[in-house]
Amino acid sequence: MALRNITIRGDEVLAKKCKPVKEITPRIAEACADMVETMLAADGVGIAAPQVGIMKRFFIAMPHVDAEDEETRDKIYVMINPEITYKEGTQESSEGCLSVPGYMGLVDRPYKIRIKGTDLQGEEHEYEFEGFEATVFCHEYDHLDGILYSDIAKDMMTVEEYSEILHELQELHTDDDEESDNAEIWEKKKEKERSNQ
Ligand SMILES: [Zn+2]
Repeated sequence: MALRNITIRGDEVLAKKCKPVKEITPRIAEACADMVETMLAADGVGIAAPQVGIMKRFFIAMPHVDAEDEETRDKIYVMINPEITYKEGTQESSEGCLSVPGYMGLVDRPYKIRIKGTDLQGEEHEYEFEGFEATVFCHEYDHLDGILYSDIAKDMMTVEEYSEILHELQELHTDDDEESDNAEIWEKKKEKERSNQ
C-alpha cells in the first residue's frame, strides 16, 4: 500500500465525469487500498477516485465517525459504480474536502438517501443513510460527476474562521446540542461580515 497524491481544486480531472468500472481488476483493488490509507492519513471521511487522478466511478467512505461503538465507527465502504436510488428531505450541511484544503462550505443536501454499489468482491449492496452519513455519500458521489462541494456551496469560509466561530459559539452557550449549531455557525459568519462593512 502507498499514499497517493491528492488532486487539488483547479486540476481538470476534478471537473470531469468519470467512466464506469467495467471490471474489478487487481489495479482497482490496489487503488482502493491506497485510497483508504490516503484518506486516513489526511483525516478525511471519504475519498473518490478522481481525487487520486483515476477517472473511474468508485469511492471510499467512512461515514460513521460519530458512532459510539468502535466497529461501526471504523466501518469503511468501497462503492464501485454507485447509484443513488432514492432521496428524501433536505438538510444544510457544513462540508470540507481533501481537494479543497483550508475551506468549509454550506451545502444543501437530501436528508435521507438510498445508494447502491458494488464492493471489491463484486457483490452489490444497497444502503440507507441519513444526516451526516447521507451527506458524505452525496459528496463523494458528486466527485464522480465532476462536482466539488465548492461548486454548489451557498456560502464558504476558511477553516480558521470556522473554528473561531465554533469556539465563540461554544463559549456563548455550552448546553446546546450540535445539530442546531450548524445554521448558527453560518448565521454568525454573515453577522460578522455585516459588522465589518
Ligand atoms: Zn471531496
